Amino acid sequence: MTAERVANSETTIFTVVNTLAAKYNAVGLSQGAPDFDTPAWVLDIVREAFTLGRNQYAPLSGVPEFRQAISDVYSRKYDLHFNPNTQITVTSGATEAIFDSVMAVCDPGDELIVFEPFFDSYAGSAKMAGCRMKAVTLHLPDFTFDRKELENAITPKTKAILINNPNNPSGKVYSREELTVISEIANKYDLTVISDEVYENLVFDGLKHIPTASIPGLENRTITINSTAKTFSATGWKIGYICAPEYLTAAVQAVHQWVTFAVNTPIQIAFSKILPQADRYSADFCTEMEKRRNYLLERSANWGFDPIRPSGSYFFMATFGKLSASSDMDFMEQLIRERHVALIPASPFYLNAKDEGQKLLRFNFVKSMAALEQADKNMTMF
Ligand code: GLN
Repeated sequence: MTAERVANSETTIFTVVNTLAAKYNAVGLSQGAPDFDTPAWVLDIVREAFTLGRNQYAPLSGVPEFRQAISDVYSRKYDLHFNPNTQITVTSGATEAIFDSVMAVCDPGDELIVFEPFFDSYAGSAKMAGCRMKAVTLHLPDFTFDRKELENAITPKTKAILINNPNNPSGKVYSREELTVISEIANKYDLTVISDEVYENLVFDGLKHIPTASIPGLENRTITINSTAKTFSATGWKIGYICAPEYLTAAVQAVHQWVTFAVNTPIQIAFSKILPQADRYSADFCTEMEKRRNYLLERSANWGFDPIRPSGSYFFMATFGKLSASSDMDFMEQLIRERHVALIPASPFYLNAKDEGQKLLRFNFVKSMAALEQADKNMTMF
């Protein structure tokens, strides 16, 4: 017998699409990972870090110089001050950080509010914690939420609001006004805010990322989650981190110590040198990815989609009513089989508005130009 919590466990949509894409040799504009390599200067620093003789367990909270580098970046960039000894935890990617945070805040029977479309691991973490996830819909056409709908979702059992800014899968970037509404509501109902900001350095059109913890009223109730994966095109290294006030850090570490205890020591040492260069490096990277976003927005419209312009992340969503009356799942399969292009259906990112999700597919533009051009050829060859 196995546990109730793993009963009816579905395979993630990323594995489903990847498997199908491999079978039909489709261009993958699907999973959120670059198809190009990590920058050479980053690889050089990592290679060097493996020669330092520091190959054993890191401390539970992370390698000290990496925690210091994380703290320095937040204080320089956003005037946010996290004590590296008591307010920072290094995790195995943001996915572990989300899991640790949900487990740390929600007891069985509690409620967790997310905005939908949401990244699918949120539902998985809620399920493992035994809490109920409630979704507040970000409405089309521009993925905005209604303050009343957010407030109506709150009950005496609500413990936290989980936000993802910039948002995967929509590419939405929350405005200061929206974050302020979240702060007002979190304070009114005494909620913790878990803020997944892994696409912090992929924000376009001259916008600036606003950390949730920098909004007045949220500094002492926010768990900020970040990662090195997206900024440095290194999704396979799984180095994420959590910055939070002391009482929340103690709570997430109480979980983290029994999940992974500690993560890769040499790569953390390397990131203590790499992270301070994030701004310098990501300005050019972001400009290049903005070009690819524009290319894929333009091409996908040409193929007959109605793309929704994103302000950040790796992704955008598009409706396809002009091309097909099928559901997102069926149309995804058809495109892989007939056009050899893999996209992600959006309904797995929805809880309430599944019908809205069924009209949407997610595109990933953080891919090589060759892959984007190949997708264009495949979509226009008939
Ligand atoms: N975050 C990535 C995405 O949204 C990868 C997710 C995964 O493979 N679990 O595509």
